[in-house]
Amino acid sequence: MLKVDNVTKYYGENLAVDNLSFEVNNGEIFGLLGVNGAGKTTTFRMIIGLLEMSSGSITLDDQPINYSNTNQIGFLTEERSLLTKLTVKEQVIMYGILKGMKEKEILEKLDYWLERFHIKEYRERKIKELSKGNQQKIQFITAIINEPKLLILDEPFTGLDPINVALFVEVMKEFKEKGSIIIFSSHRMEHVEMFCDNLVILVKGKSVLQGSIKEIKKEYRKKNIHIIGDVKTEDLKNIKGVVEVEENAMEIIVKIESEKYIDDVFEVVKNSKNIIKFMVEDPSLNEIFLNKVGEVYED
Ligand code: ATP
Repeated sequence: MLKVDNVTKYYGENLAVDNLSFEVNNGEIFGLLGVNGAGKTTTFRMIIGLLEMSSGSITLDDQPINYSNTNQIGFLTEERSLLTKLTVKEQVIMYGILKGMKEKEILEKLDYWLERFHIKEYRERKIKELSKGNQQKIQFITAIINEPKLLILDEPFTGLDPINVALFVEVMKEFKEKGSIIIFSSHRMEHVEMFCDNLVILVKGKSVLQGSIKEIKKEYRKKNIHIIGDVKTEDLKNIKGVVEVEENAMEIIVKIESEKYIDDVFEVVKNSKNIIKFMVEDPSLNEIFLNKVGEVYED
């Protein structure tokens, strides 16, 4: 288990991470979400020991993270850190050896992953000759070459097309199945909703929402009602508990404070003509994220 306990980081006067705590179990995918500058990269750097915390503690299976367990960690950095004059093979061998692996094992794994990522023809090519997306795949391979127990992925999907996002997610799920702890950052909520077990949303270094997607949606309480029919939006806006009414080419979306106002909306809708849809939905994670981030910035 990875345990981040009351971690705070100051850069001089600037508070980058503010008393952050979370736990990630073996076989779990955890999302660290936040806008630019929220403190995601700083948190990752503290986890792998590249940055000292101002206070707090971080442990992997109850042990502090240091040279004794660093071989169990894989890290994909946000700023691309490949040595672009090296060939793919040279680069991956270098990373594997740093993680205590033997060259024969590295090459076997490299060939397997190049095949999986459909780039085996690039094995002997210089990194700088590869497209950005393919360089990203090499970064990912270097992060997983040692079959890490703790896999940290800082913005892994940047610059990837949807097919390759799906491929990365497939591999992340395989590592999850094998019991690895996977922690990744993103500001793209649609990625997160698909496969993340638990998450934390950071705003200005502080956790503003934490838990499973289900719990987060439950705690958020607001609901969206999707309506198709001849309903006057003015009538909907006047209902107590209605926060907002949006209308697009397809439907009307009524945002309500909590589910206790569903009946009140239904009372207005049921007397209208041509109703072919009345559907209550949880808001998307993206909507919750924007709302939470907005609340903090308005304070
Ligand atoms: P992004 O999504 O843009 O990568 P992030 O969530 O990873 O952002 P961090 O890079 O961790 O955010 O930055 C958190 C805060 O710490 C920001 O206010 C940033 O300006 C500050 N910061 C980051 N690195 C340093 C540094 N080396 N020196 C001083 N301040 C820093």
